[in-house]
Amino acid sequence: MALEDAGDTSLLLGQTDVPPIHEDNAAGQSPFLLTCDHYGRLIPRVLGDLGLAADELTRHIAWDIGIAGVAGTLSRQLGAHLIAQRYSRLVIDCNRPPTAPSSIPRISEATTIRGNEGLARDAVLARRRAIFDPYHRRIDEVIDQRMAEKRPTILVSLHSFTPVYAGVRRPWHIGTLYHRDKTLPPLLLKALRAEGDLVVGDNEPYAVSDETDYTIPVHGEARGLTNSGIEIRQDLIADESGQQQWAERLARVLGGVEATLYPGLRG
Ligand SMILES: [Zn+2]
Repeated sequence: MALEDAGDTSLLLGQTDVPPIHEDNAAGQSPFLLTCDHYGRLIPRVLGDLGLAADELTRHIAWDIGIAGVAGTLSRQLGAHLIAQRYSRLVIDCNRPPTAPSSIPRISEATTIRGNEGLARDAVLARRRAIFDPYHRRIDEVIDQRMAEKRPTILVSLHSFTPVYAGVRRPWHIGTLYHRDKTLPPLLLKALRAEGDLVVGDNEPYAVSDETDYTIPVHGEARGLTNSGIEIRQDLIADESGQQQWAERLARVLGGVEATLYPGLRG
């Protein structure tokens, strides 16, 4: 592939591949803007199975198990715009700076991703231009439009985490993930703890940083939006009923947060 063709996304996504961006409720009036970087686990046909066995491609290393069901229902219940990304994080991780070594991981947890080894610069660029760039450009456009319309925007980035990582069991049911925002994370933490039956992680199981994250620093912090990440433990949302219950719980919690931040918005 010639370098000048590296931006031709048709080289990565063919006619049978779906577009990377999935949206729900684009006309939703909620102040919440939901993003889901690890929503799907598709692989462009041309990349085959990335050298992985089928059971690796359904594991948490490929996507955020259960979060798609939660995000879809939550978006409907809140009337909130959801922007999600359908391709596997193993193709390109949409929550990593493209310069980070983990952007196109060669190893994830203990699994070697053979299809990501020794990639030429144009192959790396093709993944970025076909998947990462359009997804983040779309989030940017939507934030631009909301700002132009003077609509309040609270960015919530939805994720799920594996109950056991590298042999260590994680006790939290849910966690808030944040860095610079001082508004939403404390409200969310308070509301989640008030539920009474949850072990709530405060920047657990991860904290957000400019080096390891993209969506919160770039679309939340750099744009001056109130923001937080939310991580739900995957065993709680592995099936449809769990996804429904957690979406309902989050819709109630976020509804309370909205009433605190924007009283009277829904008049
Ligand atoms: Zn995630």
